[in-house]
Amino acid sequence: MSDGTIESHLEEARRFPPSPAFAAQANAGDPAVYAAAEADPEAWWADQARQLDWMEPWTQVLDWRPPHARWFVGGRLNVSANCLDRHLAGPRRNKAAIIFEGEPGDRRTLTYHELWREVNRAAGALKQLGVGKGDRVTIYLPMVPEAVISMLACARIGAIHSVVFGGFSATSLRERIQDSGSKAVITADGGWRRGAMVPLKQAVDEALAEGVCPTVTAVLVVRRLGALLSVAMDDGRDAWWHEALAEAPRLCPPEPMDAEDGLFILYTSGSTGKPKGVYHTSGGYLTQAQATMRLVFDLKDDDVYWCTADVGWVTGHSYVVYGPLSAGATVLIYEGAPDWPERDRFWELIETHGVSIFYTAPTAIRSFMKWGDQHPAGRDLSSLRLLGSVGEPINPEAWMWYHRQIGGGRCPIVDTWWQTETGAIMVSPLPGLTTTHPGSAGRPFPGIAVDVVDETGAAVPPGEGGLLAIRRPWPAMLRTLWGNDERYRQVYWSKFAAQGLYFAGDGARRDADGNLWLLGRVDDIMLVAGHNISTMEVESALVEHEAVAEAAVIGRAHDVKGQAIAAFVTLKEGRSPSGELIAALRRHVGERLGPICRPDDILFSAELPKTRSGKIMRRLLRDIAEGRALGDVTTLADPSVVAGLKDRYEQHEG
Ligand code: ATP
Ligand code: MG
Repeated sequence: MSDGTIESHLEEARRFPPSPAFAAQANAGDPAVYAAAEADPEAWWADQARQLDWMEPWTQVLDWRPPHARWFVGGRLNVSANCLDRHLAGPRRNKAAIIFEGEPGDRRTLTYHELWREVNRAAGALKQLGVGKGDRVTIYLPMVPEAVISMLACARIGAIHSVVFGGFSATSLRERIQDSGSKAVITADGGWRRGAMVPLKQAVDEALAEGVCPTVTAVLVVRRLGALLSVAMDDGRDAWWHEALAEAPRLCPPEPMDAEDGLFILYTSGSTGKPKGVYHTSGGYLTQAQATMRLVFDLKDDDVYWCTADVGWVTGHSYVVYGPLSAGATVLIYEGAPDWPERDRFWELIETHGVSIFYTAPTAIRSFMKWGDQHPAGRDLSSLRLLGSVGEPINPEAWMWYHRQIGGGRCPIVDTWWQTETGAIMVSPLPGLTTTHPGSAGRPFPGIAVDVVDETGAAVPPGEGGLLAIRRPWPAMLRTLWGNDERYRQVYWSKFAAQGLYFAGDGARRDADGNLWLLGRVDDIMLVAGHNISTMEVESALVEHEAVAEAAVIGRAHDVKGQAIAAFVTLKEGRSPSGELIAALRRHVGERLGPICRPDDILFSAELPKTRSGKIMRRLLRDIAEGRALGDVTTLADPSVVAGLKDRYEQHEG
């Protein structure tokens, strides 16, 4: 990149003001919150923290010794008690906390009281296995209630959990167990995915084989598949979850934790390289998770809330478990794939369970668009009242489709920008207050200060693209990278050390109204004949074309221009590739964004390389386009996709 400013070519004039009916009932009703929070951010966050139950009050809201922050200094609380015990005294006691549906269609509901009972037993069982405060526990489970129970059980006794997505291989699991130094692993015999059994316990056995993870002394195994899949049990190390819980005491009191005691380690998605072990603590994290839950998702007591993220991702931590349960929500959990047994499974779930708030990712939305409108159209989605998006920039056309086909034109959409590192939502519309624009994540959440700057850290004017930076510490921020504080300083705080800004690694533009438009990852920004061009804008222009479902755009080395634009395009069902279509797409992008943005190469591909969390991995497409060996592929959802693309690209070039 040159000076760090990014040109912006995408014009988006559509606006969606909140409906008066929604605004009248919204949790965020007063636009003055922004100014009030800005005038005294610490007082604002302290107000949010007072929504939680504290065992000991804090003496200082923030102690900031850059780049290390301590929030709610001296305060003590227990995160599981905030998610469970405090709801038992009132009308939420017998309210559904979790509605679970397995992929085969099995169902289970746990009330807050029932969830509390299970968590007490699980916490007691962990203690009996010798797990205590500060010890790490790796959780490697399908999306079943036991995943939530395990996380809350760790929080109850002060153990630090590290959830590893159940789709990761034994090798990735082993690396994460070793890096975190876990004492115990919680897994299942297996889970269901697209009608097949995923043998999780077998992967744990492989990960732990030959003593390569000497810290692990116990493995708890949930029986999900039972007689369908027999697993080997190591007498000295392994125990069945149901037996251990039955033997554990009925009650396990919540451990009083310092606000800054560890809650979890979570490894990032790995879009840009080797995953980082992001470390989060208790009081500040929960404060921001529950505040955003109430204000961004407008949560009410009669909502049925569904966030489709797996607990293996940060979204599954903050918006399946800690945010919603601390706010007393009814949370739907679904184990399996969106296209099993049919491509309308999600819409069937919404219809059956009366889901009112739905939070998913652009990658999923683009798949639904590709599969066709008939799937949502065949189901009753009238229970929905709010939609959310997270994980990547949402292309304006995907936003419009989501708005019309899923939201029936009546549901506000919250496009939420945040990261594993930020712990909770940082930029988002507040439904009821914000006029939304397809493709914009809106304004920073009250109390959060975001700057758009150039390479030197100087603010760029509205309308120009630059680098997203965060100006002051926020409660849910990561505290360090596990075991590697040096890397923490270097990755996030060294780029703008002089200004004391956090470097997020994403490009963004702010418009004249103060709305932020995310432009993609800084590493992916293209430099074409002296112009910095955003991948997101070219992809969005391609997705606008009626034949296109999804696009990934990269800059590849070019002798004259520095970089040339290459686009990998997935077509909608029923559309076929042709030379005419390539010409039409190039013309469309040129007309929409200007000739400089017109792709040099367009390659059609039925699939794009994605992380297991569904994000497009452009760095591997660059490796392919520039004829290099592929970088780290361990976090890829399906390695055969890049291998196939590499072959085809080379044939097409040669
Ligand atoms: P790694 O850091 O290992 O490369 P990752 O950045 O993909 O992995 P996550 O923390 O899961 O890991 O993702 C955060 C990133 O996702 C953000 O930095 C941003 O690039 C992208 N992102 C998330 N939500 C949005 C959004 N609403 N709009 C635009 N981008 C988003
Ligand atoms: Mg990242």
